[in-house]
Amino acid sequence: MTVTSDILIVGSGIIGMASALELQSRHPDARITVLEKEDGPARHQSGHNSGVIHAGVYYAPGSLKAQFCREGVPATQAFCDEHKIPYQRIGKLIVATTEPEVGRMEKLGARARQNGIEIQDVDQTTLRLMEPHINGLAALYSPSTGITDYQRMTQVMADLFVARGGTLLYNERVVAATETPQQVSVRTTTARYEADRVVTCGGLHSDRVITAFGHKPGYRVVPFRGEFFRLINQPEDLVSHLIYPVPDPERPFLGVHLTRKIKGGFTVGPNAVLAFKREGYRLTDISPRDLAETLGYTGFWRMLAMNAASAASELSASASKQIYLKRVRKYCSRIRLKDLAPYPAGVRAQAVSPSGKIIDDFLFVQSERCLHVGNAPSPAATSCLPIAKHIADQLEAGQAPTLAA
Ligand SMILES: Cc1cc2nc3c(=O)[nH]c(=O)nc-3n(C[C@H](O)[C@H](O)[C@H](O)COP(=O)(O)OP(=O)(O)OC[C@H]3O[C@@H](n4cnc5c(N)ncnc54)[C@H](O)[C@@H]3O)c2cc1C
Repeated sequence: MTVTSDILIVGSGIIGMASALELQSRHPDARITVLEKEDGPARHQSGHNSGVIHAGVYYAPGSLKAQFCREGVPATQAFCDEHKIPYQRIGKLIVATTEPEVGRMEKLGARARQNGIEIQDVDQTTLRLMEPHINGLAALYSPSTGITDYQRMTQVMADLFVARGGTLLYNERVVAATETPQQVSVRTTTARYEADRVVTCGGLHSDRVITAFGHKPGYRVVPFRGEFFRLINQPEDLVSHLIYPVPDPERPFLGVHLTRKIKGGFTVGPNAVLAFKREGYRLTDISPRDLAETLGYTGFWRMLAMNAASAASELSASASKQIYLKRVRKYCSRIRLKDLAPYPAGVRAQAVSPSGKIIDDFLFVQSERCLHVGNAPSPAATSCLPIAKHIADQLEAGQAPTLAA
């Protein structure tokens, strides 16, 4: 069986579905098909994250992350308003607990201002008034940071796409593709698809999807499990903002934070440890293929060498709940070991270059007829609507650098 479409999208995570909706609104008469290997949308990163609408404090000025995150906040809120998806603009405090952290926090504040983000300096007395259960020397307050449910947002996008005439096919794993000057031919485990243009948003498999299209991605996805705990035995008003530590410059992730969930309660986390399976949510999930690919990749060992201290520290926090607890007790000393209950982990797709560099910014790679999302780590959920606009613009303009075959 061969199905013909004008536009084909691979992956029904939040980036794939936001792109499908954007392309559908620009080309209402086009036949648009989304192929997803799972039995529903948002089964991976888009359904296993912290649920934070990031304001854009952290990102390098001038980066795509800084731009799309800033644009993504009002876009996400408007989408949630329009489709009655709950969100709260609850604000976030980035809390410094030591003098060196105060220095780093001030630099972070300057960066946020450079990014055009509203940020306020909070002294120790004000911090106590804002959050009586949080201990710190000073803090940065980001009033526009919020929370939502990205799984629900992706599901709503999928429903809208189908209601507007799009075709969304589950249990369709893309295994190979051929691009000619006339069209793109995509093979899944069950059928063949032909399309004029293709967008791939493969998340934890983005490099493999690009390879299936006959290109060299130039990086490899290294999966990092983010382990969370659910906070129990603590009052609902323990804190009224999201509480984050000042990020450690040695670590590429934001640090263990205290996050209010849109459905109620709090999570503590996530950390970042190597996953033995790209979509393996339990410690015991191991894929010999995934593990062999990671361990056989020179870029992984180079990255490890450059981040050895941080990797060891993350591993120890993963192995010992007591060590994990210390990270949150730094700023909230009333949390005890017995307050940390199990909560499902997430797995981050982190693109790593052959030289071992963690690719920080969003990355897109384009051939004549295809646009591939290579790297879309946090804050890609916050940024999904501007990313989708960018994808549609690039696909129409065909301006991105052409991939090496
Ligand atoms: C622990 C954690 C916390 C995070 N917290 C936040 C946060 O608070 N705020 C924020 O903005 N971002 C956050 N993020 C990042 C955010 O969740 C991701 O950046 C975003 O969800 C990426 O979306 P995606 O569509 O690119 O990938 P995914 O959601 O992973 O979707 C990719 C899809 O492609 C499908 N696919 C893959 N290969 C194939 C194939 N061969 N054929 C067909 N289908 C295929 C997969 O099954 C999947 O459905 C977090 C991520 C993690 C893991």
